[in-house]
Amino acid sequence: MEKLGLLYQGKAKKLYATEDPEVLWVEYLNQATAGNGAKKEQIAGKAELNNRITTLIFDELKRVGIDSHLVKQISPTDQLVRKMTMFPLEIVQRNVAAGSFSKRLGVEEGTELKAPVLEYYFKSDPLNDPFINDDDAVALGLASREELAQIATLARTINTKLTALFKSIDVKLVDFKIEMGTTSDGQILLADEITPDTCRLWDLKDSGADGAVADGNIERLDKDIFRKDLGSILPAYHEILGRLEALAASH
Ligand code: ADP
Ligand code: UDP
Repeated sequence: MEKLGLLYQGKAKKLYATEDPEVLWVEYLNQATAGNGAKKEQIAGKAELNNRITTLIFDELKRVGIDSHLVKQISPTDQLVRKMTMFPLEIVQRNVAAGSFSKRLGVEEGTELKAPVLEYYFKSDPLNDPFINDDDAVALGLASREELAQIATLARTINTKLTALFKSIDVKLVDFKIEMGTTSDGQILLADEITPDTCRLWDLKDSGADGAVADGNIERLDKDIFRKDLGSILPAYHEILGRLEALAASH
């Protein structure tokens, strides 16, 4: 497969066309951003970590019946994916209060939620990805009512499967963001990435020396280390990768 023209340069990845109109070439970048690009840094090795982590997670999800856009990883920093028409939505699932949920609703970070929360944000850099509800999404033409019903069911199933997956490697899945799109034959699929950039992952092991960064009584293994200036993300991302590799090797 050949890499053709650059289609899109994002904050974390570049998308290229290939000779197959149904397939895109995704190149992961070393760039880390927070606050919609307000904080930006190059972190050598991040591209390889996230490309590998996302591949392993999508492979694990496939084993439990969740298909994604992933075709295959083709190099340390690159993968081939199915070309999708993306919903301009950040689909967030939460199990534990943190981040913007804690701030907006005045709930202490770490509070277990009585039921998982599904939220939508409109993907728009100029508007700073505002929080929206189902009616907003339908009114703006971002997705139809029927598509939202499918998106919600799929997001909740992914949360259940992903929570179990992370628990099996001693990680608490606090919350995460996913994106979905539609294939040329009309199927709604999980796309984009699932990495420590897009999830809050708290260590359930109390070893201390495993890459997790202590922040009060939380042992962080995700991009909050970067957002909150707590140190290097690399040991934490390596730790997540190592545990996922051990899981993959176990079956
Ligand atoms: P951002 O756009 O937020 O800066 P990235 O750097 O991760 O984020 O860019 C990747 C872009 O590719 C995102 O806009 C995402 O919606 C889009 N994308 C992810 N998977 C696919 C796919 N399979 N087909 C088309 N677009 C995709
Ligand atoms: N998230 C993401 N991209 C974004 C915003 C959020 O991947 O542009 C993820 C984030 O890593 C967390 C979840 O979505 O796992 C919920 O984030 P939240 O709304 O709490 O936002 P934040 O605290 O980052 O402002």
